Amino acid sequence: MTTTNTTQSSERPRALITGGAGFLGSHLCDRYIKEGYEVICMDNLSTGTADNIGHLIGNKQFTFVNYDVTNYIHVNGDLDLILHFASPASPVDYLEMPIQTLKVGSLGTHKALGLAKEKGARFLLASTSEVYGDPLIHPQSEDYWGNVNPIGQRGVYDEAKRFAEAMAMAYHRYHGVETRIVRIFNTYGTRMRIHDGRALPTFMRQALSGQPLTVYGDGSQTRSFTYVDDLVEGIYRLSQSDYSDPVNIGNPQEVSILEFANEIIELTGSDSEIIFEELPKDDPQVRQPDISRAQEILEWEPQYSRSEGLSKTLAYFKKKVQV
Ligand code: NAD
Ligand code: UDP
Repeated sequence: MTTTNTTQSSERPRALITGGAGFLGSHLCDRYIKEGYEVICMDNLSTGTADNIGHLIGNKQFTFVNYDVTNYIHVNGDLDLILHFASPASPVDYLEMPIQTLKVGSLGTHKALGLAKEKGARFLLASTSEVYGDPLIHPQSEDYWGNVNPIGQRGVYDEAKRFAEAMAMAYHRYHGVETRIVRIFNTYGTRMRIHDGRALPTFMRQALSGQPLTVYGDGSQTRSFTYVDDLVEGIYRLSQSDYSDPVNIGNPQEVSILEFANEIIELTGSDSEIIFEELPKDDPQVRQPDISRAQEILEWEPQYSRSEGLSKTLAYFKKKVQV
């Protein structure tokens, strides 16, 4: 157990962001501070980094707590909102940390929900398009139950998130906690780690350093990539809504991984070639969000095309590759 030393210093709404030092979590810290919240970022820095929140240190609206949320969580004072984002998210990370991934999705979600109940706070779960597994329905809408292999390598992540959703709904139905579930589709932007193994940072790093781009399988599998600012806007809107069923947030612009690799070669002006490597087991063949629900409930849709988002992200990766 730990206690934070934070005390309420104002009438601002207060949010706890677990995983707040990660890629998405740190962008959320920025957004909720901008919206006037006092933000407590709780993270064990397992896949995140203090660099992502370095610019917030010293800000009176911000506190960082280095803590593993699979243990009992205590926060002094009131809380209005908990955004539960702690979890490895890259396949490379969760294959290296299978037990921690299962624990943060199950025990971590339980602890965060318990805290939400105790504080009367609203709770928002970072779920994922991975709950659809290797989908048999295309595009994926929220009423599709998914096609997940529970005992496959990716099962540690997918099933943890499915459990987390079930746990959130149980706290909602049984304890009356106000819960929100966002199913996030592949998102990219600044603050991604260039060695996190996900397709986009890997291709950017390879293209910018003149190495071959490693496309897995024949590259015909598809993904739909969302620019981080669009995702953050969708999450903010969902957190302010009164809607408790899951909502897909993602950009429906679908692309094959081979085409995506070529786009990055073109964007970076690289001479890199493409090489093909073995397709990881259970790698989903297709993925594309049906965003009708987000459009209707949140009046949300992405504002950035893939080429706009990638161009905005290029300078960041150039800097990272040079370091
Ligand atoms: P990330 O790895 O950058 O961030 C995850 C953060 O959680 C890291 O800072 C890590 O240190 C922290 N963390 C992990 N286990 C913890 C624990 N036990 N206690 C405290 N902190 C812990 O990944 P991300 O891309 O920012 O993903 C954030 C969330 O969004 C995850 O829950 C992920 O499942 C979800 N998500 C992300 C994407 C995406 O495309 N980025 C897609 C779907 C879902
Ligand atoms: N991928 C690839 N080369 C890489 C990394 C990933 O071809 O170096 C593929 C991966 O097999 C998957 C897609 O790109 O089909 C997206 O992978 P990512 O890890 O970004 O996310 P996923 O959607 O699989 O969780």
